[in-house]
Amino acid sequence: MSAEFYIVATPIGNLADITLRAIETLKNVDYIACEDTRVTKILAQKYNITAKLFDCHKFNEKERSEKILNLLTQGKTIALVSDAGTPLISDPGSVLIDTLLKNNVKITSIPGACAINVFLSQVPRNSEDFAFIGFIPRNNKQQIEILNKFKHTNCIFYESPNRLIDTLENLLINYGADLKIAVARELTKVFEEVKINSVQHIIEYYKTNPLKGEIAVMVFEHTPKQNDDEINQKIKLLKEENFSAKDISIIISKLYGINKNKVYKLALD
Ligand code: SAM
Repeated sequence: MSAEFYIVATPIGNLADITLRAIETLKNVDYIACEDTRVTKILAQKYNITAKLFDCHKFNEKERSEKILNLLTQGKTIALVSDAGTPLISDPGSVLIDTLLKNNVKITSIPGACAINVFLSQVPRNSEDFAFIGFIPRNNKQQIEILNKFKHTNCIFYESPNRLIDTLENLLINYGADLKIAVARELTKVFEEVKINSVQHIIEYYKTNPLKGEIAVMVFEHTPKQNDDEINQKIKLLKEENFSAKDISIIISKLYGINKNKVYKLALD
């Protein structure tokens, strides 16, 4: 299929953060598939974009994929945008793009704003590697399960302002008050702020400062050292209760998400 389909990144707050190529593309296509047409209308009005808008969100994406394929077959050009930032980054689009790829549609991505990049560019780090987990689960146990998987790398997640304190308190309980984190709020907007400090300081800060708007969090890679003391203490307690090294390794590895053999060796020492 020779039809043209574009994935276009839009601003994450400041309407000026859009590339010339993105504006040109949105002006030239016949249709724009939007997460929410009301949001995209604001951008369209600002840049005199007159393409027809229709909604394409996580609840109708499958059905819209058929519509988009039909339009492309008729030779129409189409762009996909989300409410903010880059489509498919914690935003809908995967189902649609999968369908288009299976139908040999040529896809062009027009890059631009993305909260992860803006955040990363403001946070000094010792290493380049990072993990992005999208929106962190609400459940405290699931939060720790997923963060344990990435504790040796910087880990970024999206979170709602209403749940931030609860999530940070969960980090404090599980990783200690000194855990280093960064919280970005309202990036690219008037009240943009990035705080980098221990989890305890950041909780205290947000208990007395405004906590609303869009939030992204980074948990810095943390060495297991600090955790080891705590783990050794737990192993000692279980040994005093006559648990075998094998049982201790199962219990501790489940609780802390660490390697069973490592715990087994510690329990034997
Ligand atoms: N596709 C977007 C991107 O490229 O970043 C992300 C969409 S996701 C539905 C929205 C979440 O991204 C927000 O709840 C917030 O966690 C994060 N986010 C988006 N804009 C942000 C901003 N200006 N400042 C901080 N976080 C932001």
